[in-house]
Amino acid sequence: MFEKEIQELYKKIPTSICQSECSKCCKDNIQFSPSEEKNMGGYEWNGQCVHLQDGRCTIYDKRPFVCRIFGASEILSCENCKPERYLSQEETVKIIHAYTVYRNQELKETEK
Ligand code: SF4
Ligand code: SF4
Repeated sequence: MFEKEIQELYKKIPTSICQSECSKCCKDNIQFSPSEEKNMGGYEWNGQCVHLQDGRCTIYDKRPFVCRIFGASEILSCENCKPERYLSQEETVKIIHAYTVYRNQELKETEK
């Protein structure tokens, strides 16, 4: 089962809908935790995310934290994206910190 802790973090991020078939941020090489990678069904980057097809994310419900928060925060806003509300700077810092702690913990456990 996908870790409950990360699912709780996802729930704190307002839903954000891309207004056009933009996919600009899917051309960046993204970072994620080991369990997020598993949940995505793996990850490869060849100039763009392997899950991007015909300008759309094919694993949208399983996309990692970084894909969820971009565009959903007042300090990580995207002009083509409209979230149901923007996370404030304070909320963003808090949630990114919680995610970083979680990810580091997973990475440490994977190294064992
Ligand atoms: S979040 Fe913004 S940059 Fe990324 S695909 Fe959506 S509209 Fe494009
Ligand atoms: S997982 Fe989806 S939203 Fe995230 S970079 Fe890949 S295609 Fe884009």
